[in-house]
Amino acid sequence: MILAAVFAAVAAVVVAAKLLEPRWPALYRGVLVAMILTPIAATGYAIYALWQQWIGWRELSLFLGFYVVTIIGTTLGYHRLVAHRSFETYPAVKAVLLVLGAMNFQGHPVNWAAYHLKHHAQADREGDPHSPREGFVHAHVGWLVKATPADRERYCKRLLQDRVVMFVDRTAVLWAVVGLVVPYALDGWKGLLWGGAVRIAFANHVTFAVNSICHLFGSRSFDTRDDSRNNWLIAVLALGEGWHNNHHAFPSMAYHGIGRRQLDISGLVLRALVALGLAWDVKGAPASLPRRLAEPAA
Ligand SMILES: [Zn+2]
Ligand SMILES: [Zn+2]
Repeated sequence: MILAAVFAAVAAVVVAAKLLEPRWPALYRGVLVAMILTPIAATGYAIYALWQQWIGWRELSLFLGFYVVTIIGTTLGYHRLVAHRSFETYPAVKAVLLVLGAMNFQGHPVNWAAYHLKHHAQADREGDPHSPREGFVHAHVGWLVKATPADRERYCKRLLQDRVVMFVDRTAVLWAVVGLVVPYALDGWKGLLWGGAVRIAFANHVTFAVNSICHLFGSRSFDTRDDSRNNWLIAVLALGEGWHNNHHAFPSMAYHGIGRRQLDISGLVLRALVALGLAWDVKGAPASLPRRLAEPAA
């Protein structure tokens, strides 16, 4: 009953803010930011309030451990390796990264790459699957139910010949289930909740935030044709993917953070793989740079 009242109140605030948007656009934006930050704060509060009841060090470790490891599968595997070919690696490393990415319930890697490359090709213009110009909710999550699948042949022809990518593409659902079974095996229902459900919800919202927040809020270092932004909060939460204006300026560049102050944890993991001899042909910025709007922090 209380929950229904809270939902009704939140819905009323969002509708009112939307109606008032033409007069006070900042109000609507503020409400949207609050909607995104509240679940993060609520997760933090739930961990505090339920400490030693529903969550303890074991569950917190499962949540953080599974989050970091699987989101690396999304950022380095699905995104930088498969969609953008930012570096090369051994088939076994590629398989491990993609299997970890599949555990985030973000679907088949070829479909993911096709949607993403379509986004880069038409960013914030007609045909972009998830531009906030069609509304914040659409860009964040609504596009998932509305979008027609991006053409795998058109955007990802090369991937359809890649045996490792196609293996994970065919078995993605299996790995998503494994991503639930392992935390359950380690810690029962509490493990399934924190290492599985909460971790998946968190990972998905953080990934969606790159599409929504990073095309609305943050700074622009480069004069790209789209609305992409560098957002430090999303960069921290999404392990480097929040330097999204840099990424749109140089889509195949493997390291998204520019300079020491732009923390890119996925990039640090890639540097470790290179140091271990497990990755090579790492792509840097191209010779011809788009116009730089401001010096990025060094
Ligand atoms: Zn983008
Ligand atoms: Zn990209």
